[in-house]
Amino acid sequence: MSDEQAKAQTATPEEDTIFDKIVRGDIPCKEVYSDDRVLAFHDVNPTAPVHIIVIPKNRDGLSQLSKAREDQKDLLGHLMYVAQQVGAKECPGGFRVVINDGKDGAQSVYHLHLHVIGGRPMKWPPG
Ligand code: ADP
Repeated sequence: MSDEQAKAQTATPEEDTIFDKIVRGDIPCKEVYSDDRVLAFHDVNPTAPVHIIVIPKNRDGLSQLSKAREDQKDLLGHLMYVAQQVGAKECPGGFRVVINDGKDGAQSVYHLHLHVIGGRPMKWPPG
């Protein structure tokens, strides 16, 4: 079991996530993109030459994709659009967008986030 899988087994939704702290500026990040709703920054433990995390600034119950409400569809679309913008800019050869959901999905931070991964050829299928 990888470190990430092990972390995912014990991770649970929290009142204040590490990504909330990044949004507030309590923890630094290497910012790639920011607007009123979305923040993108480099992953601290990259799995590829490019590994960027895209998050909603206001979590508003969106701890994971499977908790998304109908009124958040526009935000979900915006997150995907920002992932596309960031991916196309940083990885002109192509990229992968991943959302891990829950224990079996190997999610460790319960604040919805998209991984934009690239800068090398990706393998398939993922483990
Ligand atoms: P996993 O840890 O299995 O990848 P997630 O999909 O929940 O599960 O991903 C959380 C991601 O957040 C990880 O890739 C991790 O490296 C990243 N991360 C954790 N803390 C920070 C931080 N302070 N700054 C940037 N990225 C972070």
